[in-house]
Amino acid sequence: WLTANTRAYDVAVHSTGKIPLGIKRKARRVVVTGGAGFVGSHLVDRLISRGDSVIVVDNFFTGRKENVMHHFGNPNFELIRHDVVEPLLLEVDQIYHLACPASPVHYNFVHKTNVVGTLNMLGLAKRVGARFLLTSTSEVYGDPLQHPQKETYWGNVNPIGVRSCYDEGKRTAETLTMDYHRGAGVEVRIARIFNTYGPRMCLDDGRVVSNFVAQALRKEALTVYGDGKQTRSFQYVSDLVEGLMRLMEGEHVGPFNLGNPGEFTMLELAKVVQETIDPQAKIEYKPNTEDDPHMRKPDISRAKELLGWEPKVDLRKGLPLMVSDFRQRIFGDQKEVAT
Ligand code: NAD
Ligand code: UDP
Ligand code: UDP
Repeated sequence: WLTANTRAYDVAVHSTGKIPLGIKRKARRVVVTGGAGFVGSHLVDRLISRGDSVIVVDNFFTGRKENVMHHFGNPNFELIRHDVVEPLLLEVDQIYHLACPASPVHYNFVHKTNVVGTLNMLGLAKRVGARFLLTSTSEVYGDPLQHPQKETYWGNVNPIGVRSCYDEGKRTAETLTMDYHRGAGVEVRIARIFNTYGPRMCLDDGRVVSNFVAQALRKEALTVYGDGKQTRSFQYVSDLVEGLMRLMEGEHVGPFNLGNPGEFTMLELAKVVQETIDPQAKIEYKPNTEDDPHMRKPDISRAKELLGWEPKVDLRKGLPLMVSDFRQRIFGDQKEVAT
């Protein structure tokens, strides 16, 4: 077996659709910050399974060791407990930068994590010549005045609102990323991720899909905020991971919307959860949070055209895939609450 340059190998695979005979791809050294979290841990699974050496950097603020424990003992896997707000020295080829709490209940100090954490990881990328991928968010579009949202839309964001630490934080992170690209020649990629769900989601972080699924399993009422007519587009996690990897390996900086264009009101989502878990589940209306975007749906034409990517798993197919994981984590070995 020859060991090929990874880029040459991937170009060959991409152009012929076949694995070059007699050539083994040189394993990459990849850092995943936030790799013990929901999205990060699924990404780590894919990277490890294709033979990369993966270093997870995580401070376990919202992530859990359990999400990556199945890799302990694998020489290609390393876990470092570290806050990305502090500098970090590593020698790597690629950096997937995910470290950032993604839910409103954990929004303390999120701006600092987005700004200082992203700066440090860009400094690391610059020093070692690594490629850097930022996981930004559809929240950069704020409460959008354009629907569906294209990457060219600049957004409608309140800079001092309760959500601003997150959405303005990610906007700054995008700016820093482009600064290091233009000013220091760092190879960068930007993904704008739309609402994503799946196994290993944080149980009690207040996001709508995890709330509804946990509530239905616990025989509690589904809490619909406001009138429930606001919309979101929900993407299954395996589709997102595929998009992130294609973006990292491809030649385009982005930003790219990565999301599922299927759009649902919160009441429609509640209905799908009822159909999937418990048709008897009740709905309870609660006041909505401040600055809640009224609608959100990605235009994914750019990712389709330039990354050859589109989501494959729709909500009705994806939701059952997270239910067994939630059931296990909520009830363990105990029996469910009797109906
Ligand atoms: P998550 O909370 O499950 O994962 C975030 C991980 O980052 C956790 O493991 C957490 O412990 C870690 N972390 C947080 N602050 C850190 C710090 N200062 N230093 C080191 N580690 C830190 O969230 P997720 O849903 O997996 O989100 C991953 C990324 O994707 C985030 O950057 C988020 O903003 C982005 N994103 C997610 C969604 C979504 O719907 N899940 C949507 C848009 C963007
Ligand atoms: N940094 C890091 N790891 C590295 C290189 C840099 O954490 O391997 C941090 C560094 O501490 C700094 C940030 O990244 O806070 C930006 O680094 P850069 O070299 O771009 O800026 P400077 O240090 O010149 O301000
Ligand atoms: N939401 C809801 N019930 C809940 C949690 C959230 O109706 O128990 C609503 C929330 O008001 C918002 C939508 O669901 O309109 C999506 O909220 P989430 O926090 O999951 O994502 P984001 O607002 O960041 O898109």
